[in-house]
Amino acid sequence: MSENLYAYAGKILRINLSTGEFYTEPTSKYIDDWLGSTGIAIKILYDELQPWVTPYDPMNKLIFGSGALLGTPAIGANKMSVSTLGPVTGGWASGLSDSYVGLHLKYAGYDLLVIEGRASTPVYLWIEDERIKIRDASHLWGKTTWETLDSIREELNDPDLHAVSIGPAGENLVRGACIIQDKNRAFGRCGCGAVMGSKNLKMIIAKGSHSIKVAQPKRFMTAVKEYLKLFEGSNLGKYGTLHCYGRKQDISGNNWKNCQESSIPEHLFEKMDPRVTVKKYEVGPESFPGCGVGGCGRRLHITEGPYKGLKTTSNQWETFSTIQTRLAVEEPTFMVQANALCNQLGLDVNLVGGAIGWAMECFQRGIITEKDTGGLKLEWGNAELVLALTKKIAYRQGFGNLLAEGCARAARIIGRDSDYYAMHIKGQDLYEVLRGSVGWCLGTTTSTRGGGHTTGALITETFPNDNQEKARQVFGVDVEDPLDPLSYEGKAELVKYMEVSHRINNSLGICHYNTISVDINFLNLPHLAEFYSAAIGREVTVEEFEEIAMRQLNLEKAFNLRFTNLGRADDLPTPRDLSEPIPSGKLKGWRIDKKDYDRLLDEYYELHGWNKETSYPTRATLVKYGLGAVADDLEKIGKLGE
Ligand code: SF4
Repeated sequence: MSENLYAYAGKILRINLSTGEFYTEPTSKYIDDWLGSTGIAIKILYDELQPWVTPYDPMNKLIFGSGALLGTPAIGANKMSVSTLGPVTGGWASGLSDSYVGLHLKYAGYDLLVIEGRASTPVYLWIEDERIKIRDASHLWGKTTWETLDSIREELNDPDLHAVSIGPAGENLVRGACIIQDKNRAFGRCGCGAVMGSKNLKMIIAKGSHSIKVAQPKRFMTAVKEYLKLFEGSNLGKYGTLHCYGRKQDISGNNWKNCQESSIPEHLFEKMDPRVTVKKYEVGPESFPGCGVGGCGRRLHITEGPYKGLKTTSNQWETFSTIQTRLAVEEPTFMVQANALCNQLGLDVNLVGGAIGWAMECFQRGIITEKDTGGLKLEWGNAELVLALTKKIAYRQGFGNLLAEGCARAARIIGRDSDYYAMHIKGQDLYEVLRGSVGWCLGTTTSTRGGGHTTGALITETFPNDNQEKARQVFGVDVEDPLDPLSYEGKAELVKYMEVSHRINNSLGICHYNTISVDINFLNLPHLAEFYSAAIGREVTVEEFEEIAMRQLNLEKAFNLRFTNLGRADDLPTPRDLSEPIPSGKLKGWRIDKKDYDRLLDEYYELHGWNKETSYPTRATLVKYGLGAVADDLEKIGKLGE
């Protein structure tokens, strides 16, 4: 360990795959302004990427960041992030996962790992304290993530080895390729796996022997003990995010046939209940150390039906919603098989569901035919077809090569007005059903990583929460019913609150499922401030967190303005969301009104100090967060808000 910093390992490891060189630099210079992990990563990306760099250029950087509280006993501190210039939106890309590699990266002495260049042949990284090796991975190239882990464990005779790796999707530069921790956890969305593939980097292994120290251990452990009580009685541990099944049906938040419907047909509701499937095939819990809810996953063994014999872990809500119900597959265990296949191939479930959903709807409407698909009949509910197409996407075979681009690009290539059926925000395939939840919608459409609910969406609107008084108190808003999904009142303010909360979680490495992201009774910013203060031995306030998070958000925004042409129009919901009322279910007839949404966006931009017409940050806002030089950059390219 280079510096005597509490909570942090103290160093950033930089590796150039083109030259094989590596060196370290101190983390300390970034901490006060950028906190850790994703915060430091966007600062490095903004400062060091020249504006002409493209996602697959060797000069692009792929940055892994272990959360600032990873390695401490903080509740839910399990997350490593990956950040880069991404191939999906063309701007800021980021993903997070529970990660033993992230934990060991810190134990090895590194808070972040910055990778640049491109190896001439496939390689993997071995990081064991000060021993850094770039090793040949030719024998692993072409393997799935599951085969890769099994092979390396056998080769090195180490059955407990942990790795993050890419599968065939990353090797083949599928835009929705993701990076997989071991076998079942994904750094999802944004295509970070494709950037890793473009660098000929198959896998990263970290093994560390140091420990992470906190400055005030007694205070820290008192907080841990006290805050664990917040999780008593929670249902999240039983089913993970599948727990929200009933609530989603109530708020028309289910995805049926590519968002044509927002509810699961009543006659199938019971049959398709994913909680029943998990309960039926559960053989044990799956958790990560320190998780407040006792783990959101379950180890499953499917003992009957078409996927009999499959042993894997349970999927989360996203897979169920974006692949199973979106594609109208009725077999209850299909979600488990589809999730396992995506993990093996290193594919983001959202791109798979988004692209196939778009194609199936176009097929339904006669916009694309068997001539386009190579003879495939893209009929709803055909489980085997979906699995076959998923493989074609990963290997870019036949029609899968088009779908590998994601629904937005595929629609542009096909034309024929098919873009109306491409459910995406800023090019990012959406699983999020936007109609019926205003705060969830606003946080998703304005997200700087493209559509996605983990950088500001009001997720609590979509989870069972009935304590409005507690919500008012937690969010500090003077709104009668802050979690009313159909109300526009206070939603811009609440999304801003969640933008702060999500960014602080991400930079500290705290799992969203352990926080008010999903349950207003869970960890909140004051709890995290207490953890962090006790960890580093200096009092850090919630206000300080707010400033750091807003600085980060403004830099993400500036990064996007530098590398893309995104503007206000890209912060709107999809055309379908703005024009079609919810066709059935409990919220039948409700729709997002364009005028109301425009007013909400105005309010949102005003709150952020961004120009209402363009969405660009103003100089005053950037200066307020110490980003005066960024204001100069944006002015030069004509993208500084007035
Ligand atoms: S809730 Fe799930 S993702 Fe979060 S820390 Fe626990 S096991 Fe990990």
